[in-house]
Amino acid sequence: MSKVAFTTLGCKTNFYETDALMDLFFRNGYDIVEYDEFSDIYVVNTCTVTHVGDKKSRQMIRRAKKSNPNGCVIVVGCYAQISPEEVREIEGVDIVLGTAEKADILYHLAQYQSGKTDKPYVAVSDVSKVKLFEDISETVAASAHTRAFIKIQEGCNQFCSYCIIPYARGRVRSRSSESILEEIKRLATRGFKEFVLTGIHIGSYGIDFEDKTYVLKDLMGDIHAIPGVVRIRLGSVEPRLIDDAFIEALASMPKVCDHFHLSLQSGCDAVLRRMNRKYTTQDYAKAVERLRKLYEAPSITTDVIVGFPGETDADFEETVAFVSSVAFSEMHIFPYSKREGTPAATMPDQIDATVKKQRSERLIQLAEENKEAYMRHFIGNTVSVLAEEQKDGYMIGHTTNYLKVHFTGERAFQSGMMYTVEILELNDGKMIGKAL
Ligand code: SF4
Repeated sequence: MSKVAFTTLGCKTNFYETDALMDLFFRNGYDIVEYDEFSDIYVVNTCTVTHVGDKKSRQMIRRAKKSNPNGCVIVVGCYAQISPEEVREIEGVDIVLGTAEKADILYHLAQYQSGKTDKPYVAVSDVSKVKLFEDISETVAASAHTRAFIKIQEGCNQFCSYCIIPYARGRVRSRSSESILEEIKRLATRGFKEFVLTGIHIGSYGIDFEDKTYVLKDLMGDIHAIPGVVRIRLGSVEPRLIDDAFIEALASMPKVCDHFHLSLQSGCDAVLRRMNRKYTTQDYAKAVERLRKLYEAPSITTDVIVGFPGETDADFEETVAFVSSVAFSEMHIFPYSKREGTPAATMPDQIDATVKKQRSERLIQLAEENKEAYMRHFIGNTVSVLAEEQKDGYMIGHTTNYLKVHFTGERAFQSGMMYTVEILELNDGKMIGKAL
């Protein structure tokens, strides 16, 4: 039996799509092996949101060739879509597929294996042809996850000035609710309890439907009604989504997790404007206030870019003050990374790498302090944990607000089961508890 190995870089959508590809290979008779093992085929699902993504992609390509110099290395994903010429030049690459070609990977592999094509074989076309994976959506079934990632839309219309995604993945295309609900029903019957709604810009769900009245909250309501669905988790959303109507909808859906990733990017309004983000820090603070009114201690997480072109010391201090006032439970800090082809790449006053590093370090420090304070809040409380794995004598799982909990208990471990856990302590950054 031929073997295939996968590695994924980047966002939740990429992970979802790797699951879909895995399932496709699995159903076509391939054995799925670990990426570090000997394999006939290696699939690298790449990311290009930052230069770190490009660098990591290149490392993974080299690693595959080390495990099997004769293995076939297929590079898919955003990096392949944006820079196919650069990718084909990397030593060891056999096939380069764009975002639109990803779903037809087996066809392209067969073409390459026929020996009649160029080497490397490159097929990268217009992003508007990207499929929504509906035709290969038996996704997570073949993998061991307890939580299923459900892709609900593709593309983005926002054109933030630093982001290459609208060029890499095209405009918003929403998946039909029938297809989403059918996939979730099927997975719920198989025992999946938690469903993470992912996409490139999920807040835009439905804006491309002819009848624009069915939007994200309506889809969430329909998912909520499916028996067997225990948790619904939202992928990254923008603060503008959290208006009064959305809060009202959340209040009627107890299965929705109290975990919201609201991308901030900067806590300075002048920088937000240059980023072409369409909200102010005041809008953002209002969204957080609404969520904190509805839930007792929701997890509010975010991404921040430091060193955006023109970000002065004073601008950065505004960001520090703003993120301190919000007290995020988790922050991902990215030093601004120039993406050719985006408006920000040619903006004046690009920031020096050393300054970006210093600013990142300051925010990372703050992020760690806030995260610890948030976790400490739960010591002595009981939480509901979805068990995922067992390791070093502990059962491990996540709470609704996405805290990872290590716990012991009388009940036997079963992956996919819910446990009520009392949080006892924080030990070396780990939340330790006991199942009741
Ligand atoms: S919202 Fe902005 S940052 Fe996010 S994918 Fe769209 S363009 Fe990129």
